[in-house]
Amino acid sequence: MKAWFWHGARDLRLEETASRPLQRGEIRVAVAYCGICGSDLHEYADGPHSIPVTQPHPLSGRTAPLIIGHEFCGTVVEIAPDVTSIKPGARVTIEPEYRCGRCAHCLAGAYNLCVAMGFAGLMGDGGMAQEAVVPAYMAHELPDAVAFEQAAVAEPAAVALHAVRQSRLQAGDTCVIFGLGAIGQLLVMMARLQGAGKIIAVDVVPARLALARQLGAALALDARHEDVQAAVLAQTGGVGAPVSFEAAGSQATFDGALQVLRKGGEMVLVGLVPKVTLDSFDLVNRELRITSSVGYRDVYPDLLALIAAGKLDLSQVVTRTVALEQAVTDGFEAQLQSRDEIKILVQPQG
Ligand SMILES: [Zn+2]
Ligand SMILES: [Zn+2]
Repeated sequence: MKAWFWHGARDLRLEETASRPLQRGEIRVAVAYCGICGSDLHEYADGPHSIPVTQPHPLSGRTAPLIIGHEFCGTVVEIAPDVTSIKPGARVTIEPEYRCGRCAHCLAGAYNLCVAMGFAGLMGDGGMAQEAVVPAYMAHELPDAVAFEQAAVAEPAAVALHAVRQSRLQAGDTCVIFGLGAIGQLLVMMARLQGAGKIIAVDVVPARLALARQLGAALALDARHEDVQAAVLAQTGGVGAPVSFEAAGSQATFDGALQVLRKGGEMVLVGLVPKVTLDSFDLVNRELRITSSVGYRDVYPDLLALIAAGKLDLSQVVTRTVALEQAVTDGFEAQLQSRDEIKILVQPQG
């Protein structure tokens, strides 16, 4: 089978590789779609960031070169003899978090905080391939009403839903979302479903602002031309927003997401900023709260139910679908070159 192996920065190789035998607890999935994530782009552009190159990941046992891609779905084609949770032929989407099942966090149910947490497709072999081998616990069977085109976006949608659940957002609350890549757009959708009042979305790319408006943002602000803080104050009776989400990963958006908050407000950090400076005087004086969110836990069943019920259409964030062979030229490179691209899906089966 063919798979994209990460060998190093700017060095993804489509290689023909033998299907490896399944080990205890594993399943083999014929991949229908695999999305390209912002974290994949980071690994491609100037990695490694999360990909293990010297020490094998404790749960996957893998180091680079490994198969990239963690946002995937497909059909189960084989199961190890001890697997009882899923059957061959099942249509599944993959929740790609490795978990040990034994540490204090896993035992408490917070498996996204597992001491050995990692992602298939970053810390072990993933799904940008014709076939993927993963632990069976990662598979969620799709209701008939959920198409693969939707299921392929479940992973980033899970990130957004978990982030909203980590926040103190109450029904009717105004919230401000900074950064309208895939995660930011999905945050708009999840905040709306969670009953947010006014959703204010902020970016610098017109196409992204237009999509956020379409997905339910009451106001979409171009930070290059508009005074975001003044606009949020005007929308909130002069006090500021109770909740903001930072999904861009820059110092400017980090600052912006704190500036728009009311006293006692909360910023949820979802974007990856290597290092930021923080006005701690302002933070303390206004009794602000900074929350962060990593991955997801316990959100896939709810997400799939929302899609099946027609309340959520994740295909709205997909801007392009490309064949496996073109994943780098028309996928990774296209996304790095155009900020109009939101979510690109790779389709490995012909
Ligand atoms: Zn992702
Ligand atoms: Zn654990």
